[in-house]
Amino acid sequence: MLSHVRKFACPRAFGAFGLGGRKTPSEHLNPNLETAMPRRPLPRCPRPNCSRKTTTYTKHSLLKSRRRTQRRYRCTACNKTFAANVGTPYHRMRHPAKLFDQVIALATEGNTRAGVARALGLSPGTVARWIEKASAHAQAFNELKVQKVEPVELQSDELKVLLSQKSRPLWAYTAIEVWSRLWTTTLVGKRTLRNTVLHFRDMNERCRKSGPRVLISTDAFKYNAGVIARTFGPSCVHVQVIKRFRKSRVVHADKRLVLGAPWQFDDAMERSEDSKTINTAYVERLNLTIRRSLASLQRKTNATCRSIESLAGQLELLRCSYNFIRPHSSLKFGRVNRTPAQQAGLVSERLTWRKIFTARLLDRPDLSFRSRMRARAVGQAHLSGAG
Ligand SMILES: [Zn+2]
Repeated sequence: MLSHVRKFACPRAFGAFGLGGRKTPSEHLNPNLETAMPRRPLPRCPRPNCSRKTTTYTKHSLLKSRRRTQRRYRCTACNKTFAANVGTPYHRMRHPAKLFDQVIALATEGNTRAGVARALGLSPGTVARWIEKASAHAQAFNELKVQKVEPVELQSDELKVLLSQKSRPLWAYTAIEVWSRLWTTTLVGKRTLRNTVLHFRDMNERCRKSGPRVLISTDAFKYNAGVIARTFGPSCVHVQVIKRFRKSRVVHADKRLVLGAPWQFDDAMERSEDSKTINTAYVERLNLTIRRSLASLQRKTNATCRSIESLAGQLELLRCSYNFIRPHSSLKFGRVNRTPAQQAGLVSERLTWRKIFTARLLDRPDLSFRSRMRARAVGQAHLSGAG
């Protein structure tokens, strides 16, 4: 698909003048995806049982509080009332939405919770609660939007994370689509066969497999070869980079073709605009961005995460920021730096936290913070009752 591009124009050389070999977003847009983000979502009945297709609503009342006046609506199908921002993290919030966005922006730029709280004059508990709310929304947003990626080259790696300095290490599985720099999947847990299967299966489900063989580069982790062969099968060419370390420096890197014939590898390499040799440099660069952007993952930090769920949530939040908000410095086209999601054709513009948080995700009933807290309380009561 892209083989002609590489021969005539190097996207790196001409990218700065807007003559890059890569497609512009409008050329690359995926017709099956809803790429435009709604400016402000129309009010919609949040009840899961309500037949939404036929639902209409009427204005019901004005809810007045000290800070603002909010319109409430009544669903004509189920006769219940609701606020326009139900299903977003802004629902029932007493502070301005702008402050919420600021907190999340600072938290995904490597600041600690306490630091964010001090800078904006909030309590650390509020910041923690908002991050949790935003994480749940970001996870649903990623789930919905990172779909049907057309991969050229995928790289996968595991990042060592510590919940506290004394605990046993966990691993964050990460994967990047090199051509668009899209961070496709993430998973936190032990380095087990099960987690490796879940990681690669998720990666596979987010990709379209109609095109030619995808080049997958990984490290020499023992489960990778078997799991990739089982999950991707004949739709990929798998290569491994086996590094030898001495005093925590790489002294030698062996490169090995694990799955696929040599001619298929040459073909896949030809299609990759970015890699000249077998490497995992792009996913390792992503891992560095992740480490620098989350306070709990920095080295020798005392800002550790308490739970695996909280860490997974923060990673989802960062993934949202990395894919949809942060312009990528190696995706420069003229004066514009695109985001990875733009490059992958998932959205048509650079998003903001406001656009992400006001996106309609009402089809996921688990999004309401209160209902999740309630469900957790019920679960804990159940567990303690059973114990
Ligand atoms: Zn209704």
